[in-house]
Amino acid sequence: MIPSRSTLTRDQVVDAVTDLLGPDRVETDEATLRAASVDRFRKYTAVHGIHDGPFPAAVVHPSSVEEVSAVLELAQRHRIAVVPRTGGTSTEGGLETVVADSLVVDGSGMDRVLAIDEVDMMATVQCGVRLADLEDQLRARGLTTGHSPQSKPLAQYGGLVATRSIGQLSTLYGGIEDMVVGLEAVLPGGRVVRVKNVPRRAAGPDVRHVLIGNEGALAFVTEVTVKVFRHHEGTARYVGLRTADLATGVGLLREVVVDGYRPAVARVYSPDDARQHFGDHPAGEFLVVLSAEGPARLVEATMAAIEAAVAQVPHTRVEEETIRSWFEHLNWGTDKIEAEKQTMLERAHLGYTTEVAVDWSRTVELYDAVMDRISREFDRAGDLTLLGAHSSHSYQTGTNLYFVYDYDIACEPREEIDLYHRPLNAIIVEEALRVGGSMVHHHGVGKYRTPWMAEEHGSALVLLHGLKQAFDRDNIMNPGSVFPVDAAGDLLGLGETTPVAPVAPDR
Ligand SMILES: Cc1cc2nc3c(=O)[nH]c(=O)nc-3n(C[C@H](O)[C@H](O)[C@H](O)COP(=O)(O)OP(=O)(O)OC[C@H]3O[C@@H](n4cnc5c(N)ncnc54)[C@H](O)[C@@H]3O)c2cc1C
Repeated sequence: MIPSRSTLTRDQVVDAVTDLLGPDRVETDEATLRAASVDRFRKYTAVHGIHDGPFPAAVVHPSSVEEVSAVLELAQRHRIAVVPRTGGTSTEGGLETVVADSLVVDGSGMDRVLAIDEVDMMATVQCGVRLADLEDQLRARGLTTGHSPQSKPLAQYGGLVATRSIGQLSTLYGGIEDMVVGLEAVLPGGRVVRVKNVPRRAAGPDVRHVLIGNEGALAFVTEVTVKVFRHHEGTARYVGLRTADLATGVGLLREVVVDGYRPAVARVYSPDDARQHFGDHPAGEFLVVLSAEGPARLVEATMAAIEAAVAQVPHTRVEEETIRSWFEHLNWGTDKIEAEKQTMLERAHLGYTTEVAVDWSRTVELYDAVMDRISREFDRAGDLTLLGAHSSHSYQTGTNLYFVYDYDIACEPREEIDLYHRPLNAIIVEEALRVGGSMVHHHGVGKYRTPWMAEEHGSALVLLHGLKQAFDRDNIMNPGSVFPVDAAGDLLGLGETTPVAPVAPDR
């Protein structure tokens, strides 16, 4: 636990924020505070009702940018730690309230779609708009966001932007960073900033990126404008095939992408990962999934290129309808979250993931190295019921690997994270960095990948530190996320007492 640095007691924090927002929008009941102290990184202890704290003083629900500003001004004045929240699907500890008596500032009530502009092809939403809701409104007009993370039914725009989220159709539409046109945010202390909507500009560095991916550690995102695209109903086509090895599957994705085509979905699953999606998938074979969507003539051309690339590699075909139907049921709503809770309770069993990015030339090496190290070094490897990975987002220069690991838990629930999740996560992160990749592809740094931030960023870390120093030197915003802190809550490498350690020049 990091002690509160607030000049107010817990009761005074609650009184002050109640004066600002009114009692209806300040929650202080114990169950709410316990649930708000963690996210899905601690889903196993949470489902067992184990919450070791620290607990926030309150969960508050502002309904406007002015109210967010007033809360952040109060927080800055009294040094109250703030954890922004919207959809609550965070997986990396980003929502953990590591400082006692924090304020969880929940923007989910700011849920209005403010504008859909069919000429300039953009939509403006408040931070609490669920992606699925915007998508439904757009589809009714023949449009789409193009954004389709598996958390689409639950995730909201504040979190989607703050975590640099990415969706299943990313090869065609890009990640959220390719979609955000402009946005509004509140800085620590309450200043409101707006990055205006323009098609492009060259007026200095791109300031959208100070806010996109900030994980609530620099600012509270209140409003977002995203591009919208025409939706071409009924044109989507799917291709599925099995290959003998990862190199063939990844090579196929690479060939299609670097040849200049933009499939919507482009994935390769390892054998065990494929079997959790397709029960009849044969052992030992990799599964490749590609799709095309958009204007019919573009789909036709993309499909022709995919088929030409497929013809070059030994494979076994999977029925198009099998892939289409699987893809249409991939997303997670509350039903799957509830089913997962039952599994955790009834079978002492769960699954986690760690997603990293890697150049094409080192993808197979990374996969092999992780599989090898886990089998040799992880002393509870016998409890693993699934270990695999898929590549699900591809680029001109490389791809991601999304490692999946399920296990039976042979320990007290409280020990699960240290005995299973953290060592497995560490191996994957270390190997990704060793092969020159990124330790996090799209879930965010949260509070558990901060130990590797210096290695991740190398000499460029000073740029990130500069942002924290400029905007949140008192570390009010989501302490412990993105920027590592010591046990007293001091920013590591930022304060006068702990100067920035020299970092090795990039290799
Ligand atoms: C089942 C499941 C599937 C997922 N699939 C994907 C996927 O396909 N692709 C993907 O990218 N991610 C995925 N995720 C991760 C997660 O859903 C996304 O990162 C999503 O963007 C988080 O949105 P949220 O609204 O739930 O944010 P939250 O969980 O509320 O918050 C996430 C982080 O953003 C910060 N934050 C939230 N709101 C704001 C705000 N208004 N201003 C500033 N900071 C804020 C929080 O402090 C926290 O650090 C998945 C998660 C789950 C549980």
